[in-house]
Amino acid sequence: MDDVTAILDHLNAAQREAVSAPQGNMLVLAGAGSGKTRVLVHRIAWLMQAEGLSPYAVLAVTFTNKAAREMRTRLEALLGLSLRHVWVGTFHSIAHRLLRTHWQDARLPQHFQIIDSDDQLRLVKRLIKENDVDDERFPPRQVQSFISGCKEEGLRPHQVDVHGDAYLSQMVELYERYQLTCERGGLVDFGELLLRSLELLRDNPALLAHYQERFAHVLVDEFQDTNTLQYAWLKLLTGMTTPMTVVGDDDQSIYGWRGARVENIRRFEREFTATKTVRLEQNYRSTSAILEAANALISHNAERMGKTLWTAGERGEPISVYSGFNDLDEARFIVDTLRERVEEGVNRREIAILYRSNAQSRVIEETLIRQGVPYRIYGGHRFYERLEIKNALAYLRLLLNRDDDASLERVINVPARGIGTRTVELLRQRAREAGVSLWQALHDGLADGSLKGRAGSALQAFADLIDALDNDSAGLALHEIIDHVIACTGLLEHHRNERGEKGQARVENLEELVTAARAFTQGESFDPPEAGEGAVALEAFLSEAALNAGEHEADEFEDSVQLMTLHSAKGLEFPVVFIAGVEEGLFPHRMSVEEPGRLEEERRLCYVGLTRAMHKLYLTHAEIRRLHGKETFQRASRFLREIPEEYLEEVRLRGQVSRPVTASRPAGLRQSEVNGGDDLPSLSLGQRVRHPVFGEGVILNAEGEGPRARVQVSFEGEGDKWLVLGFAKLTPL
Ligand code: ATP
Ligand code: MG
Repeated sequence: MDDVTAILDHLNAAQREAVSAPQGNMLVLAGAGSGKTRVLVHRIAWLMQAEGLSPYAVLAVTFTNKAAREMRTRLEALLGLSLRHVWVGTFHSIAHRLLRTHWQDARLPQHFQIIDSDDQLRLVKRLIKENDVDDERFPPRQVQSFISGCKEEGLRPHQVDVHGDAYLSQMVELYERYQLTCERGGLVDFGELLLRSLELLRDNPALLAHYQERFAHVLVDEFQDTNTLQYAWLKLLTGMTTPMTVVGDDDQSIYGWRGARVENIRRFEREFTATKTVRLEQNYRSTSAILEAANALISHNAERMGKTLWTAGERGEPISVYSGFNDLDEARFIVDTLRERVEEGVNRREIAILYRSNAQSRVIEETLIRQGVPYRIYGGHRFYERLEIKNALAYLRLLLNRDDDASLERVINVPARGIGTRTVELLRQRAREAGVSLWQALHDGLADGSLKGRAGSALQAFADLIDALDNDSAGLALHEIIDHVIACTGLLEHHRNERGEKGQARVENLEELVTAARAFTQGESFDPPEAGEGAVALEAFLSEAALNAGEHEADEFEDSVQLMTLHSAKGLEFPVVFIAGVEEGLFPHRMSVEEPGRLEEERRLCYVGLTRAMHKLYLTHAEIRRLHGKETFQRASRFLREIPEEYLEEVRLRGQVSRPVTASRPAGLRQSEVNGGDDLPSLSLGQRVRHPVFGEGVILNAEGEGPRARVQVSFEGEGDKWLVLGFAKLTPL
């Protein structure tokens, strides 16, 4: 029994209660950093050791593949045994596993391929064009999100109620055509993975019974972000009798815009029998300054289930707020500061830079690169989403499945081989008319002589190339197949001939793909293929690539600063955290400020961001930012004002620190005159000025010299602002 109780070491009383509770439905509802994920891992260990469950009988759902890997590693450490075969994964990866195993029952071809949202969008665009649909009334992205939305709600085209609405009917028709194309090509998008596996279980009672019997306990992390379909899937799989442990935090529900339903927490409590609810109240992650600031912020939300969260930790440093005069200055501050921290002995990987929108990363990345600071983007467009990699993968997919239209379109003329858009258009038309794949249309056209001349021979050469590659790969190991494909298709040569660093980087990436394949077959990845050869290995590799796209980390081993959006930071923690762009319109995002519901979701996102930090938190914003190609004046985010001043300290130029703007400033920083340089008027404290956007105001404060000098102006309607003379166009009155 010794090792059984050892699992309960290093847990507090409430956590212990949750971990060792008798099997039954349980909800652990608790705030950030209170040990929810820790409880989940320990509960799995407990179920295996104390309740004697076999590793096969446990199903654990996490939010990312990375989280799944971490959970597996932690479990192995706790139990001291290898657990390669426990089903731990995301909803998508688990659904994928079911579909691969039961592809016939799921009415899928054996080598079905997963398409990501990029491929999906390309397909939608093509359908809109082919069907002469007005892409202004039906923008591809909107159609795409309509399709995904339907799938998330579990709706097939015929199940969508159009109420005789012409617009909706057109949407549904596009959905239907999209679905048909996917079926024909053996393509499965992310939403389809889930919906298809739900239907698989629903329509095959014997199969369902098998899994219901197999899984003795189902556990779900980040339950607040499950959508309707995922909830239905869990209901079906457990038959509402298999006990479930779910953990979540309503204050961290941040995927409402993508269909997540925070009310699933309440539904779970209501619908699943005898649910025991456990609350954890002690936070182990953050200093009390950070935690209390986060608590204060989230208290501005009206719709909450209500939780308390405290920490026994020390108060720690206040949160530093930096107001940059523009986005470059903001980035410079971040990079200078983190370098100081690194010099003090903090590892780079312990530092995260978080931002609301992906586009914000570029300026920060450039500053990091200039200063030679290694960094990694987590969850963004990484390795598997790079153009050259996607091209190589498309060729590989064609080897397995010639009817994969999306892949064929992608590479039919990459590198250029004389197959123009007119020829491709012709192929499409033939394919559409005959209701066949592009590959089939190509062959038919060559056979009946309607595709001839230069275009005809180019097409013939392409078809021969694919067939030859397929033949050649028999008996080769996975990485040899890939090596062969990137060489013989001319992809490698194509990028070698590109001038400059970009081409070089692409060549390196292609070579890296071969390396990745070798590592994959050697079992250095999460879900190693059962048989490591030929088509089976290739298929497994392609699936892993699709599932991992967006999560891949370029270089696992170099100590790098972590960059990511606030959304992808969920569940993670870092000793030092920067949140950049804490500005109205950016964060909260301008799309969200009008609607109270969405504003609350932005605030939850901010809460998620603040609570990632363990020891030190920096919030930065810029007064001028280049957005969508033009410079705009930005106001500090309302979220900054919602954090009580006692937890904040404002950083002034070069490490000088003062109280926030409203408080009095150290005498040393005071100036009575400021001179903006030759073309600019000289201004003094107390002077009235006019600003082209903010109107009239009074100068309260000033610092610096020349065009970069800054003044603080109190505007009538807009409050106090720091402005840079060189940009602000102030007129003295
Ligand atoms: P989030 O809401 O952000 O997902 P969480 O509730 O899942 O957070 P964990 O990530 O499990 O919280 O735990 C937060 C941190 O606190 C981790 O570093 C964890 O190891 C630590 N921790 C949790 N419980 C304890 C404990 N009883 N003793 C010591 N450290 C703990
Ligand atoms: Mg967690």
